Amino acid sequence: MIRLLAVLSVPLLVLAASLLWAAAPPAPEKPAEKTAPERSATSENPMPPRQSSAGFDITPLPKEQVAALAATLTPEQYRVTQRAGTEPAFCGNLVDNKKQGAYVCVVCGLPLFKSDAKFHSGTGWPSFFQPFDPEHVVEKEDLGFGMVRTEILCARCSSHLGHVFDDGPRPTGLRYCLNSAALEFVEEGAPLPTQRVASAPNAHEQADPKSKAEVAARTAYFAGGCFWGMEHYFQKGPGVIDAVSGYMQGHEDHPTYKQVCYENTGHAETVKVVYDPTKITYRQLLEAFFKMHDPTQLNRQGPDVGDQYRSGIWCVDDEQLAEARAFVAELKAKGAFHGRPIVTQVELAKTFWPAEDYHQDYIVKTGRACHVTNPW
Ligand SMILES: [Zn+2]
Repeated sequence: MIRLLAVLSVPLLVLAASLLWAAAPPAPEKPAEKTAPERSATSENPMPPRQSSAGFDITPLPKEQVAALAATLTPEQYRVTQRAGTEPAFCGNLVDNKKQGAYVCVVCGLPLFKSDAKFHSGTGWPSFFQPFDPEHVVEKEDLGFGMVRTEILCARCSSHLGHVFDDGPRPTGLRYCLNSAALEFVEEGAPLPTQRVASAPNAHEQADPKSKAEVAARTAYFAGGCFWGMEHYFQKGPGVIDAVSGYMQGHEDHPTYKQVCYENTGHAETVKVVYDPTKITYRQLLEAFFKMHDPTQLNRQGPDVGDQYRSGIWCVDDEQLAEARAFVAELKAKGAFHGRPIVTQVELAKTFWPAEDYHQDYIVKTGRACHVTNPW
């Protein structure tokens, strides 16, 4: 009956919950003994191993490892955990889950909460009064949306989980407010997952998307000159979940911007596009890509000269390869770009190396003008 009422009055409740959420008390003033781990670990420079009191490996995972794991998520799971999204109240699948068991990180499998600490908060989000182990959840001040809140993240993979407030029940007085999309439930008796490790940065491409209840997010890679503008406009695409600047198709591992500019690394400035295939197709991404750059310029885009600015489509599988080749052939056949030869390379993707943080969202951060045409 309660569930029926909830269904009937979802819009009202959502509104009420949103107001409650907005009016949620400011984050408790707690000593900042737990802070978010810096995501500075790399495969070459891993963080020193750390084990929690509960006996789990909580060594922060390298960025590439997290990226590879995250790429197997559904679009909603990705939006919540990797872009600090919030799911609508009462919409998550774990709000009313009353089974006994553990809630683990949807990205890396670390146990985060137990059913015996779950309580009915009425907010529409799964709520707990304490974590599985205090060391498994780290806190970070969140000043977003004009509020002071305390964000909670997975200690191992830094995925966004939700927030913690100080209006919870006894014994802790805390309310850990979670997104269902950040969690996976493991019923009592079933083994807790061992640490999930992606074998290679592109390992997800071999994963069977049908093994997920929902359609998994897909990835595409495009090189079309300086990545700042490309990333900016790909990010604006309807159905694009994330766009990341990086380096690809070269022979140097963990390349730096300096190396890519001045050394012969063979890398091209590339934008990784994570998208929801139910909202945008690969073909629409291809169309946008060819609107954003001039594919007839060999190893340059306007003032940027060098093979790191070459035009390229790096495909994650044979299907993308065939589609990209057919699309280029189509452009050629209709004499696009005034019939000038298209020099875009179409190849299978090698490892994607994310660029330094200061390159990400560069146009937004710097407010610089962008010479790339908005394709949408
Ligand atoms: Zn995790």
